[in-house]
Formats: sequence, C-alpha cells, structure tokens
Amino acid sequence: NVDSALFKAKSSGREGFAFYDQEQTEYARQRVELIAGLRHALENGELRVHYQPLHCLGDNRMIGVEALVRWQHPQRGLVPPGEFIPVAEDSGMISAIDAWVLEEACRQMVAWRSAGRSLQFVAVNISSRLFSRGELDQRVAQVLTDTGLPADCLELEVTESAVMDDPDQAQALLERLRSLGVRLAIDDFGTGYSSLARLKRLPVHKLKLDQSFVAGLPHDKDDLAITHAVIALAHNMDMKVLAEGVERSEQLEHLRQLGCDYVQGYLLGRPLAAADLHLG
Ligand code: C2E
Ligand code: MG
Ligand code: MG
Ligand code: MG
Repeated sequence: NVDSALFKAKSSGREGFAFYDQEQTEYARQRVELIAGLRHALENGELRVHYQPLHCLGDNRMIGVEALVRWQHPQRGLVPPGEFIPVAEDSGMISAIDAWVLEEACRQMVAWRSAGRSLQFVAVNISSRLFSRGELDQRVAQVLTDTGLPADCLELEVTESAVMDDPDQAQALLERLRSLGVRLAIDDFGTGYSSLARLKRLPVHKLKLDQSFVAGLPHDKDDLAITHAVIALAHNMDMKVLAEGVERSEQLEHLRQLGCDYVQGYLLGRPLAAADLHLG
C-alpha cells in the first residue's frame, strides 16, 4: 500500500525512504510476475472469452454479444480484465491477447451461425495500443478469411480516447476497416473529449455511452442531460447509441423514453461463457 508507505517515508526520514524503496521493489516484483504469468496464460490456454448480450430497445431482442476476456488462473480463479489488461498494455502483450480474443470470438460466432442462432454480430474490444499501430485492418482481414465469418458479423469497439489520441491516423484506419465491411463502435463514449467536427466525419455506426453516465439515471440531472445530448448527437450524425451498464428497469425505461437504440447491462444479462449463454 503505497500511500501509507509514502506517509511513513515522510514522517520517519531516511529509514522511511528505505521502506518506501522496499514497497517499490515489491510492486515491481509483482508486476514482473504478472507479466510472466500472463505470457504463460496465453501460451497454455488459460484465457477465456465471455459474452454479454446487447439488446435492441425497439423489439427487446438480443442483436449481438460483446466478447470480454477473462483469465482462468489456476490459483486465483477467474480474473477480470481490469486486473491484467493495464499491465498487458504497458508490456506490449495486449496485441497478442487482442488477436487471440478476436480470432476466438470470430470462431465462436461462426459456430453460432452454423447452429442457426439469430445473433447479428459479435463485438470485440481493440486496445488503443493495437489500434495505434495501424496494421489492424490487415489482421482483421486475415481473421475473417481464416474463420470464414462475414465481415458485417463482426463489430470492433475502439475507445473514444484511442480515436482522439491521433485523430488523423484513427480516421484513416477506421476508413480502411469500414471498407472491409466490419461494423465500428466508439466505446466508453463521453469520457474522451471528442472533437465534434471530427466525430462527424468518422465512419462509425454506433456510440457506446459510458456506464458512468447511465449509473445516475434517471435522478442525476447531469447524467440525464448528457445521455439526452449524446443520443441527439448520435442520431444527428446517423449513428446509433448503446447505453452500457444498465442495471435497473427504471434506467431501461428512461433510456427507452429518451430514444436510445440499444442497451447492455446486468439487468439484461451478465457476461457468460458461450456454453452458458441462452441464444434464440
Ligand atoms: P468495456 O469494453 O466498456 O466493457 C464493459 C464492461 O462493463 C465489462 O467489464 C462488463 O462486464 C461491464 N458491465 C456490463 N454490464 C454492467 C452493469 O450492468 N454494471 C456494471 N457495473 N458493469 C457492467 P469487464 O468484462 O470487467 O471488462 C472491463 C474492460 O476491460 C472493458 O470495458 C474493456 O475496456 C476491457 N476489455 C475486456 N475484454 C477486452 C479485450 O479482449 N481486449 C481489450 N483490449 N480490452 C478488453
Ligand atoms: Mg467494450
Ligand atoms: Mg465500454
Ligand atoms: Mg466501459
């Protein structure tokens, strides 16, 4: 616990700093261990993909699923992505993880389609690290060829901050991806300081309103205003809106009244292994 280490360092002089160094060393050691463990996980098949339903508010049907990675750790159990994605991003391992999830999700979608499931698409998260490298379109084209999945059955989710980091580069890459025929969504929308002029020119189908704004619905006035504004903005740009993190039916009803197109959240279904998911 770094805070209390810092406090002790300040209050006890030299010795304290030695203690702080120890904590830093411990932190670095844990990080190295995590990176090694993650590499092992990737090579030995410990990663899993779970799928969370995405619902249409108009007819209440499941239109797609979002692929979300987990680590089935031999001792720690199922580890959520928040605990290893940041380290994977720093260490560069995220590219290999995202590539694996992409292929796995496409294969699963092909299997669902041959079993006659009515899902329209599977959505896959792309890290800013992979996105900024620019050769993503070649990799996606290759996976579609290898798996035989039609391009419009794949949606790629890129965060708003990844896009706005280098908007020119992002726009060019999104256009190349779009020309492959895949669907594109901006993830965690509302948290990344978009240039609206830029947003208008992006070949994107969908904005995913970040769950932090959905959390306060319907009582928080700011969240309500932001949700309202994002829906109007998206529709004016011929984009759809999906609200993330819907947990209560009053949120769902308000989103419906506000004209939101799609919803995702624990109220409609948690992320589950493919075998546990009930599809029509
Ligand atoms: P995200 O892409 O915004 O995904 C939505 C997250 O919200 C998921 O967390 C999901 O389980 C969670 N969620 C869904 N409905 C609710 C709800 O009603 N309430 C609450 N509190 N949470 C809800 P998860 O699976 O832990 O993933 C967290 C983040 O990790 C994702 O956020 C995404 O940024 C990242 N991530 C997950 N899988 C991948 C991946 O394969 N590649 C990359 N690059 N990032 C991934
Ligand atoms: Mg996402
Ligand atoms: Mg999101
Ligand atoms: Mg999010």
